[in-house]
Formats: sequence, structure tokens, C-alpha cells
Amino acid sequence: MLSHEITQRWLSYFESQGHKVVPSASLVSNQPGAMFTIAGMVPFIPYFLGQETAPFPRATSIQKCIRTLDIEEVGKTARHGTFFQMAGNFSFGDYFKEKAIPMAWELLTTPLDKGGFGLDPDRLWVTVYEGDQESYDLWRDTVGIPEERIQRMGRDENFWDTGQPGPAGPDSEIFYDRGARYGKEGGPAVDDDRYIEIWNLVFMQYQRGEGQGKNYEILGDLPKKNIDTGLGVERLAMLLQGVENFYETDQVRPVLDAAAELSGRTYRGTENAEQEGYEDDVRMRVVADHIRSSLMLIADGVTPANEGRGYILRRLLRRAVRSMRLLGVTEPCLPVLLPASRDAMKGVYPVVSNDFERISRIAYAEEKAFLKTIESGTARLEHAVTQAKSEKRVVSGADAFALHDTFGFPIDLTLEMAAEAGVSVDEKAFRGLMTEQRERAQADARAKKGAMADLSELRRLLDDHGSVFTGYTELVT
Ligand code: ATP
Ligand code: MG
Ligand code: MG
Ligand code: MG
Repeated sequence: MLSHEITQRWLSYFESQGHKVVPSASLVSNQPGAMFTIAGMVPFIPYFLGQETAPFPRATSIQKCIRTLDIEEVGKTARHGTFFQMAGNFSFGDYFKEKAIPMAWELLTTPLDKGGFGLDPDRLWVTVYEGDQESYDLWRDTVGIPEERIQRMGRDENFWDTGQPGPAGPDSEIFYDRGARYGKEGGPAVDDDRYIEIWNLVFMQYQRGEGQGKNYEILGDLPKKNIDTGLGVERLAMLLQGVENFYETDQVRPVLDAAAELSGRTYRGTENAEQEGYEDDVRMRVVADHIRSSLMLIADGVTPANEGRGYILRRLLRRAVRSMRLLGVTEPCLPVLLPASRDAMKGVYPVVSNDFERISRIAYAEEKAFLKTIESGTARLEHAVTQAKSEKRVVSGADAFALHDTFGFPIDLTLEMAAEAGVSVDEKAFRGLMTEQRERAQADARAKKGAMADLSELRRLLDDHGSVFTGYTELVT
């Protein structure tokens, strides 16, 4: 089943259950201080917080998301992308868990030819908050999952709040067991690679009081209880398409193949670092993911810059180009990779094709600029290497920092090129200088604190949703 068939099936199921189909909001979040939309619930925050009355009691959406906090996972786990689509169903004071839980189960396990996703019920596991007996009973008695496949988790794992007094509540997550080949048995509490998280159901039902972190009192029930759920479309696609990971699904794989072809290397589908070809595989997956994220970000109006959203885009594009260099391609590669991603995405997002002239102009210019950076930095690095050779065969932290700071030369590039020249880099000193610089920047930011108040509040809110906020201070590597 193709990704767009999954999303159509999702929307028509929830529409048939009385949900209003709401189009995806932009990746560029309009929430105060937030950079990107990181979950399906973000556009509905004012309804959940009671700041606005929802114009419909139930909604469903396929929301485009960016989570740069997952950037280091990309290519290494089977399940993390920086861009992905979150399918969601939402209740604003309407139905609650007694309906959300059985609906989720029905949609996942109803056979494919009867409108569901046809997952084998015996492979599904769920987690519930340890204090949420209601959900436990619904899974066991109403749905009929055997107790062995229901795991109770603590507040850190399965409890949602906004980071301040207001709505809070338990959540319950659904996992798919990929089988013994993928890891240890024992359920999602033991192995999150074998047991892939596909769907999170959040039950906003309590009013919470003051307190730090998860250390607060529950004051009572909310007058109106809400449902917020999110399922990863690519994760379900990977299961339904019988592929090994996120990057091999229909909307991502074509870019991976283009990267393989361009570099003349073979994608082997390795899963761990001990296997031969793993590093190249990770690079190709990174390329496939980052190219798609960049395409979608530029389509939503982001342009490369040295700060904010544009900086995230710049980092994604540069990481993709850099990964291609590590695959041996020194020529511009976006003119091949970007159209491959466009063709994989345009069926669902026609804008990437209609606006491709503009999108590609921005992306190609960024690649050119980066290749130039590498060229000029290379001369500086060679100088540092020559010096290092006459001394202790170590490039100083100060040199590595200057390369980073002045030439935008990423540290991994410095490390790799130094190694090729047979010298090492004083990475510790480099990190120290980076920390100093960051602390200076943070002190500056604190000085501007008034303007930042909203940001930190929302950051807490989103962080505590079990995820991910891309701060303005995120480091480049
Ligand atoms: P994980 O533990 O796997 O990182 P999560 O708990 O951070 O996932 P949630 O915040 O609960 O994820 O988001 C709801 C759903 O969105 C997840 O169950 C998953 O299916 C999907 N999802 C989350 N992050 C990603 C990502 N980086 N790439 C693809 N899908 C994702
Ligand atoms: Mg999780
Ligand atoms: Mg989760
Ligand atoms: Mg996560």
C-alpha cells in the first residue's frame, strides 16, 4: 500500500466516524515562538488549551512535520525522519478513550479488503500509564489484547502535560513486533527497534498544579476531556510495504536509489555497524531523508539563512551534500537528487512540482555556495595540516574552530580530511571553544529575555508532549 493510499484510508475511516477532515498546516508553525510544526496537534493547541472554541467537535488530519531533534537518529534507527507525516484524530471535549482506543484497534486490524490496515493483531503491543487502569481495562476487556502484551509505564514515558498548570493526562502507545530477527523479546519496554512505535494516543483528562518537570499534583478532572493522537505514516508504510525501514518506503526510496546511482555505490540495507557497507548505507539514508525535508521546507517558504528556520534548512542541505561527498561525489548532486524527491512527493503535494523552478533555484544556489566553502576551507585546512605535520601531528582546536567559525567548515569534514592526511585533530579543545561560543550566545539571548519569554514557554509545552522542539540555539555539526 502506497503512502498516499494509507493517508486516504486514514482520512476516510475517521470521516466515516464523524471527524472533520482538516488539511495539513504549514511546516512553518504559527504558534508563538515555535519554529516548525512537530506534531499533528500543534495547529489545534488553542482548542486544547481552551483559548478558542473548536468549530467542530472531532477532527482528523495528515500533518506535515519536521523534527530536527531526531537528526542524529536518521539513517541509524529504522524509524526516524526529520520530515514525516503524522496522521491524527482529535476530539475537542467530545469522545474520550472509550472510543479512541477501540477505533485505533479497528482501523489497524480490520483486513485490507475491508477498509482497514490489516495488521496482525498478535503482533501488536500497547503501553499504558501505570496509573491509568481505565485504559488498561479497555485494551484488555473491550479490545481483547492479552495481558502479556500490555505494558505499564511511568510518568516519564506515558504522561503528557504542557509544562505548566493546565491540561495533562496519560497516554497509551501502540507498537508492532517486527519479529525475533530485529532484537530482544520482551515488548517495547525492552527493545524499541524490534517493537516499532506506530501510534500514540493522548488522553487529556486532568488539571495539573504547580511543579517542576513531572513533579506536580493532579488537582482534578478537566471539565472537557480531549483526545489527541498521532500515527507515523511512514512507519505504517514501512510495515505495509514489507520494507526494512523509513528510508525504503515509497516516498523516500527513489532519492536513496538516485544517491546510490550517482555515487556508483550499492545500497545494501544493513542494520548495524558491524555489517559491511553500513556507513555508506547510513549516508544514503541521510541523503534521502534530508533532501526530502529540504524540498518540503523550501516549498513552505523557508530559505537558507544563518539563524532560525533558515539555519535548519541550511544544515539539512549541507549534511546531504556532505554525505554525498563521503560517498565520493564532489560534483553538484542536487540537480539529480532534488528532482527525484519532487517526483516521489508531487502526487500528494503538487506544489513541489508547480513551484519547482523557485525551489530548485534556492537549493542549487545553496549547494554551490557550500561547495565553494569547502574549497576555500580546504586550503586553510591544508595549511593547518602542514603545520601539524611539523609538530605533534595534531591540528589544534583553535584551527578547527577557525575553520568552523570562519569558513563554515563542519568538524566532521575537518576530522575526516585530517585523518586522510595522516594527522589528528584536538577535538576536545575544539569542543571547548564551541561551548564557550555557545555560552556567549546564550548570555546574549538572556539579555534579550523579554522577547524570548513566549518561546521558552512553548518550548516546554512541546518538549513535554513527548518530543521535540527545534530551538533557535541548536548547534551545527
Ligand atoms: P519515538 O519514540 O519512536 O522517537 P515519539 O514517541 O517521539 O517516537 P510521538 O511524539 O509519540 O513520537 O509522535 C507520534 C507518532 O509519530 C509516533 O508514534 C511515530 O509513529 C511518529 N513519529 C514520531 N517521530 C517520528 C520521526 N522522527 N519520524 C517518523 N515518524 C515519527
Ligand atoms: Mg516514543
Ligand atoms: Mg510516542
Ligand atoms: Mg521521538
